[in-house]
Amino acid sequence: MAYFEQAPLPFATDALEPWIGARTVEIHYGGHHRGYVEKLNQLAREDASARRPLADLVCEAEGDLLDLAGQAWNHDFYWRGLRPRGGGKPAGALLACLDAAFCGFANCQRRLVETATGHFGSGWAWLVLDERERLRVTTTHDGHNPLRHGQAPLYTIDVWEHAYYLDVQNERDRYVDAVIKHLVDWDFVLENLVRATGAGCRSLRSVAR
Ligand code: MN
Repeated sequence: MAYFEQAPLPFATDALEPWIGARTVEIHYGGHHRGYVEKLNQLAREDASARRPLADLVCEAEGDLLDLAGQAWNHDFYWRGLRPRGGGKPAGALLACLDAAFCGFANCQRRLVETATGHFGSGWAWLVLDERERLRVTTTHDGHNPLRHGQAPLYTIDVWEHAYYLDVQNERDRYVDAVIKHLVDWDFVLENLVRATGAGCRSLRSVAR
């Protein structure tokens, strides 16, 4: 029995080329991500305490259960944040928020690239709305998630080597730069920000202060 499902990939495996190759997506989604979900289901079959909503596990579990739940949640969020022919500039309210929060949208892009590139070891780079309702770029190690720290995830970049090694080997900066410039789905980020503020677009400017 499967307690947790792997959401379908929201695009074809070759849709992110030339930035992320089809082979990378096949192995990443069909191998790594699927493996985390399968192992999580195995734990849930053995242990009733694992049969809880994924977000609850991400916030409250420990050990293997936390790692697997986090990797399941984070990968689903990562795929949904990517869009073929994405990137560029966000529209309207989100652009105003990012401009204000980072002293210019270009600085927001640079911060994401530098933070993701500089993260030591495996993990995730995030744009979050923090516990004081400020927009921030941060990272987590392994499968950890900002929800655990009271921060609302708005966007994530997987910086585990399996996300880019086939495409650019050790040059993580090239992968991260391409994601930020060509693949981010800013509409997805806006949806998450609206949900996190509970406010709707007109109130988003207050987030940027
Ligand atoms: Mn991954």
